[in-house]
Amino acid sequence: MVGCAACGATNRVPEARMSADARCGRCGVALRDGRPAILTGENFLALGERSDVPLLIDFWAPWCGPCRAMAPAFSAATAELEPALRLAKLNTEVEPGLAERFGIQSIPTLVLLHKGREVARHSGAMATASIVAWAQRAFSNSLAGYRQSPCPGSTELPHDRT
Ligand code: ZN
Repeated sequence: MVGCAACGATNRVPEARMSADARCGRCGVALRDGRPAILTGENFLALGERSDVPLLIDFWAPWCGPCRAMAPAFSAATAELEPALRLAKLNTEVEPGLAERFGIQSIPTLVLLHKGREVARHSGAMATASIVAWAQRAFSNSLAGYRQSPCPGSTELPHDRT
């Protein structure tokens, strides 16, 4: 499943097709265009929770000098990390609710999410190569964690909340 940043729809896209010019089934917008998506309260569910593609979020603000300085590096990292990861920018001035939800204390902060679960976090500006290396390491660590559990043949316990 791949979330659409434009309309918030969740698309069923075979992994092999993500490298091609995959488009949203509802609104027709390209599911990735080589640039970071703009994360909002509306598309967060599709991109951050329902999508199978891990989401790397850049929490930033226009008044933050280091954030502005890191912006070109984050954009450049998008080309190297997609389609394995989706990159998105979250303006903490526009979406304070999401910044609060993640307990963002300082910016810039990068948070790597997989299906709504935070798997890694880094505060402070980084160059492109550092962003790419950090995200790839965090991504493979999270995959290793998934492989360890659950045991084969085990059944998930019912959750209290549905
Ligand atoms: Zn769409």
